[in-house]
Amino acid sequence: MSCIFCKIAAHEIKSSGVYETENVVAFDDVSPKAPVHVIVIPKKHAEKEVELKGTLFEIFDVIEEVAIKKGLAEKGYRIVMNRGKEAGQTVDHLHFHVLGGRALSWPPG
Ligand code: 5GP
Ligand code: ZN
Repeated sequence: MSCIFCKIAAHEIKSSGVYETENVVAFDDVSPKAPVHVIVIPKKHAEKEVELKGTLFEIFDVIEEVAIKKGLAEKGYRIVMNRGKEAGQTVDHLHFHVLGGRALSWPPG
């Protein structure tokens, strides 16, 4: 298994701030772009939303839970999915970024 996020999901690589449900893991980004920067992934490797089926709902439940736990629910936060080279995607394992804790510029650079 070479995928870094699969290794995190399997607890083969340590990550902080882990929150976990049956099919989903959330952890702090190793290189945060905002005071709060959490990555939310399906435990099972997937690259496209269509592979996720019901797990997509579980992912969004976890995102909401992460926002509450990190104190972002009232202040607001951003959910980002980078897809492909021009969006800056570096890890193929499908993932959502949850960013917050400061005012976020829009549109993105
Ligand atoms: P992408 O650019 O693919 O949308 O986002 C990948 C994210 O994963 C980046 O923000 C990067 O900092 C984060 N990341 C990459 N490797 C690791 C790791 O080993 N541990 C953690 N916690 N985050 C990682
Ligand atoms: Zn993977």
